[in-house]
Amino acid sequence: MEQGGTLEAIQQTIRQAATLDELKEIRNQWVGRKGRITEQMKELSRLAPDLRRERGAELNAWRESVLAALTRREEELVDLEERRALVHERLDLTIPGRRPEVGLLHPLTRVRRRIEDVFLRLGFSLAYGPQVESEWYNFEALNIPPDHPARDMQDSFFVDVPGLVLRTHTSPVQIRSMQRHQGKLPVKIIAPGLTYRRDDDATHVPMFQQVEGLVVDEGISLADLTGTLTVMAQELFGDGVDTRFRSSYFPFTEPSVEMDVTCAVCRGAGCRVCKETGWVEILGSGVVHPVVLENGGYDPSIVTGFAFGMGIERIAMRIFGLDDLRLLYQNDVRYLDTFQSGEGDGPGDFKSSLA
Ligand SMILES: [Zn+2]
Repeated sequence: MEQGGTLEAIQQTIRQAATLDELKEIRNQWVGRKGRITEQMKELSRLAPDLRRERGAELNAWRESVLAALTRREEELVDLEERRALVHERLDLTIPGRRPEVGLLHPLTRVRRRIEDVFLRLGFSLAYGPQVESEWYNFEALNIPPDHPARDMQDSFFVDVPGLVLRTHTSPVQIRSMQRHQGKLPVKIIAPGLTYRRDDDATHVPMFQQVEGLVVDEGISLADLTGTLTVMAQELFGDGVDTRFRSSYFPFTEPSVEMDVTCAVCRGAGCRVCKETGWVEILGSGVVHPVVLENGGYDPSIVTGFAFGMGIERIAMRIFGLDDLRLLYQNDVRYLDTFQSGEGDGPGDFKSSLA
């Protein structure tokens, strides 16, 4: 070819084409509609017949070899690109799968549900009340007058609206439940819920959970109280647990008693958690004060009752053998997970009974 080099040169250009686009350009340049070989074939008619035949055969041979080289290189390039894509998008089937994180109930939720479960089986029903409570329900109705020292003891959070307080205990639900029963008997409720006090140290947090209990009926006595709470302690801590009741004072019960259970950590032998006594206090309780029954709409000359209140955190501390309650509220999943795996500080069988 006049300006094109040899057939060998064209074939080399084709073999060196790096992309399909480059190849397309070469094709157009030589064998396309205006390609150099094509153009020369158009010139053939102007040649003398002998020369035309010879030249025509030559051009045809060139055209065939160029087309064949183009097809070969095209196949190679398609193959190359497929392999490049495979490497790029390759799936490594040997990589271990990512295990999905399974959510768990918070230890305090599990303890609360366990307590609820025990009382529901004893025939109690669940009751609830507002967390922003009137001072009347939170204090006066429970026999705690404005100048009563218990109000100082409890160090409440007050709301900007006069007469309202963040409830300092779940005891207002006692009054609300009696009112809701409108004199019907028996009243037999537990009231789990959040409560608020201005406390913040290793064993107190400003927001904590209580479970209140109230039974009102004819002929209810202190013996019903100790019987019910002992059953609860056995269900919660296991058959081996011992209970004892110590005389105490609360404005809304008379007489008032606190219940101790044998220490879960040392089983009564004495240790740091129980201050070497072998016992830990878990709740306050008593026979419902006549003033409280009246405020709930019941006649204390006809009915009697018992009530109790326990801190879920405190019970969880006993169960899990914790000495810093605040860890439970930091929501560090790594710490909370130890309650599930049995790596916590507490005795394993207590924990596994709550799993
Ligand atoms: Zn102990």
